Amino acid sequence: MNKDLFIIYIERLKNEHVEKIEETIAPDFLEIEENELSFKDPVHMKGRAYLTNKHLILDLQVKTSALLPCAICNLPTPQPIEEKLTLTVELSDTPSQVYDFSEDLRTALLLTVPQFIECEGGSCPHRKETEKYFSEPKEKIHTPFSDLD
Ligand SMILES: [Zn+2]
Repeated sequence: MNKDLFIIYIERLKNEHVEKIEETIAPDFLEIEENELSFKDPVHMKGRAYLTNKHLILDLQVKTSALLPCAICNLPTPQPIEEKLTLTVELSDTPSQVYDFSEDLRTALLLTVPQFIECEGGSCPHRKETEKYFSEPKEKIHTPFSDLD
């Protein structure tokens, strides 16, 4: 993976130069590959970086899609993510004159992931079964899979 995609060279932004950013990146850099959450779609980012007197400003529009299991039937369900990321970095904090924003981007994306998701746009076909299951009186012996045989 080209780490350079996430690096801003502050030197190049001097004299009011605005750097345009438009990249589509494989989601590997997120390093998230779990049962509960994974990213398979590329991450598209578009925006700009520039300097003010004391700060580096980064404005990014980020689009991708996360994959989460449906809260009811567990089917992997895509959740589109569209997030605006604005970073303000003190120039005095970056003596190296380079800023790597991959970690900021990763954190911003993770914060947008919902805790629960339901497949079929919120009407999971298995919802009815689950509701039946939960409303079943406790003393009755319930065999939820008996009618599947
Ligand atoms: Zn479902």
